[in-house]
Amino acid sequence: MEKAIREAYCFFVMLQSLGMKKTVPLVIGNWKLNPVTLVDASLLASAIARKQKTVAAPIVVIAPPFPYLAEVGKKIKKSAVILAAQDVYTEVIGPFTGEVSILQLKDLGAEYIIVGHSERRQYHGESDELVATKAQRALSCGITPIVCVGETLAEREAGETDEVVKRQLAAVIHTNGHCVSEIVVAYEPVWAIGTGKTASPEQAQQVHAVLRAQLKAASPSADRIKLLYGGSMNAANAASLLDQPDIDGGLIGGAALKAADFLTIIAAAA
Ligand code: PEP
Repeated sequence: MEKAIREAYCFFVMLQSLGMKKTVPLVIGNWKLNPVTLVDASLLASAIARKQKTVAAPIVVIAPPFPYLAEVGKKIKKSAVILAAQDVYTEVIGPFTGEVSILQLKDLGAEYIIVGHSERRQYHGESDELVATKAQRALSCGITPIVCVGETLAEREAGETDEVVKRQLAAVIHTNGHCVSEIVVAYEPVWAIGTGKTASPEQAQQVHAVLRAQLKAASPSADRIKLLYGGSMNAANAASLLDQPDIDGGLIGGAALKAADFLTIIAAAA
């Protein structure tokens, strides 16, 4: 798997020299609270793994629910698919009933962790600072945090989109300093998540450009930080979104639960 990623990297360095995308695309399936049996989780993971044996690009990641991480990890072991978790706790060990440590996730083979998903911010009151600390925990263990940012519909309608996403990202930059070059950022407009209302490629690109500029001001390596779009990305709209210059991949919820749809999105990113 490492060899495949190295090859993909070399390939994209070559494309970069031709003026194309500056980073290997990344496609992540966020399974959220799905499925609800181990059998179904195993079947979905196996169906994706079967098709992603040797493909070098895009990098393909799946984030199943915590209880299925170990089994899904076994199903994808011999493939190019990488394991991620959907969240992590800020403390690593001790009396924190119900929480999950970054050390446990690393032990199970997770290489990426989603932090700050809007559903965590909305239903669990996660603040920008908490999200930044979670990103820090992941980075300190060599795990890549996928930091989600995005505005609500009310914020977009009030013309506050740029201000909101910049505030959310600023907390992560402030806490993580130069290590911010190791994160992945996912722009996920809250109004587009699970609603079937996708941001247009132009709307998404506009926000990605704002985020890229903010990252550039914080890190000389900002060009290689992957900026993903998430929010009702599906087999039909993936190609036009991924075609945008600052969209380096996708964070996919609903469409990641059907292997055929997810594989179509992967093909669009390739
Ligand atoms: C998500 O949960 O991150 C997401 C983008 O969901 P959906 O694709 O279903 O909108």
